[in-house]
Amino acid sequence: MADRYLNFTGTAPGRFLTRRLGLPQPARLHRWSPEHPALDGPLLHLTAGEPAQTTDLADLLARTGLDVRATADRPAAIVLDATAVADVPALAQVHAALHPVARSVATGGRIVVLGAPLSGDDHHQAAAQQALEGFVRSLAKETGRGRTVTLVRVAGPVAAAESTLRFLLSPKSAYVSGQVIEVAASDTTAPTDWSRPLAGRTALVTGAARGIGEAVAEVLARDGAHLVLLDIPSAQGELEALAARLDATALPLDITAPDAAERITDTVPALDTLVHNAGITRDRTLAKMPADRWATVLDVNLASVLTTTDALLKSGTLTRGGSIVATASIAGLAGNAGQTNYAASKAGIAGMTRSLAPRALAEHGVTVNAVAPGFIETRMTAAVPLFIREAGRRMNSLGQGGLPVDVAETTAWFAHPASGAVNGQVVRVCGQSLLGA
Ligand code: NAD
Repeated sequence: MADRYLNFTGTAPGRFLTRRLGLPQPARLHRWSPEHPALDGPLLHLTAGEPAQTTDLADLLARTGLDVRATADRPAAIVLDATAVADVPALAQVHAALHPVARSVATGGRIVVLGAPLSGDDHHQAAAQQALEGFVRSLAKETGRGRTVTLVRVAGPVAAAESTLRFLLSPKSAYVSGQVIEVAASDTTAPTDWSRPLAGRTALVTGAARGIGEAVAEVLARDGAHLVLLDIPSAQGELEALAARLDATALPLDITAPDAAERITDTVPALDTLVHNAGITRDRTLAKMPADRWATVLDVNLASVLTTTDALLKSGTLTRGGSIVATASIAGLAGNAGQTNYAASKAGIAGMTRSLAPRALAEHGVTVNAVAPGFIETRMTAAVPLFIREAGRRMNSLGQGGLPVDVAETTAWFAHPASGAVNGQVVRVCGQSLLGA
């Protein structure tokens, strides 16, 4: 379902009218395309205090291909290194660095703040570093014009954050804003070709026949992965057409089938990335919800994810250096009337992700992360009644719905072999929805 309002505000009369009436004026977001793969303009590198890894960060930023400067009139991005901020007086340097330039960031630009992990034994440092979260989330809400603001907490060598910074400083993260991402202190290896980081790797995407799953398949294929595409047998036609287009293997299979994991292993004995995308809704308020509607949603969205994950880790089908990306939802974080079953299943995904991630990495060398989409323009949301659909689209800092490709790009960043230091994260792809924590 096209966003007619966004199209209208993109026209001259639309701009005039919405400005006169004080209505939201969402910016048309710049997403990645082969013709337009990078942000347009220089990157401003700023510091607050005296960070320890300034040279390493400067080298990393130079590798993004952006023109890195210490001053710029109209930067396309700003990276503020606030890792050294350890007390309240030092927070003034965050203000001093960004206050003069906040308004100069180009439309659709990025502000990325680098922070440090919260100290367990220095409560002044923890207060100052936690303060950065409130700061970033507020700046993201006030910045407007399609700009995004994120906080990346770097626990070790900044090089481990390269895949994350490349993602955030590119059009691939157009719909990710107001997020806090933690990058652990672990070794990562840079790919030989950053434009095809998944070359030689195999990925399986569930629910791939349409919507977000189809976009995930397309983006992972673009990044070089060989794909196994799974969806229910009744979607076999769409699945096979997509598989033919992407030179992939179609696997028509209900993910809740008792032998699903075995069937997957029979089809693909060694898997690098597993994307749990299949999901359903069966909305009713709790008082009107029969047990079967509850059970179906919990089965597809959560139980099958746990069962196949456990089985594929145990059998060694998921190989070392691999990744699992699960799909949560902002409904699971914020709650949604009529979706007790769905929100429970999606909150469960976040719980699984956070608990399993450290063990899966230690025992199997596999990372576990989750995307939490907000309002994404798909058949699932096209079925939502008009008024609620329009509210869902506008109630976020970017004033518009996301596209399936936005979730797909975030999934690809998680699946990237150089993202090995990104583990246990639940990242919302929601344009900073006003719903949820
Ligand atoms: P969609 O309904 O367009 O596609 C879901 C796909 O999953 C379909 O192809 C369907 O056939 C498949 N599927 C359903 N049950 C299955 C099963 N038992 N086994 C195998 N495949 C199965 O949905 P979408 O909007 O693309 O959503 C994809 C994921 O993103 C879901 O997990 C959904 O909950 C989540 N999500 C979507 C939004 C949104 O705004 N669209 C928001 C938050 C979360």
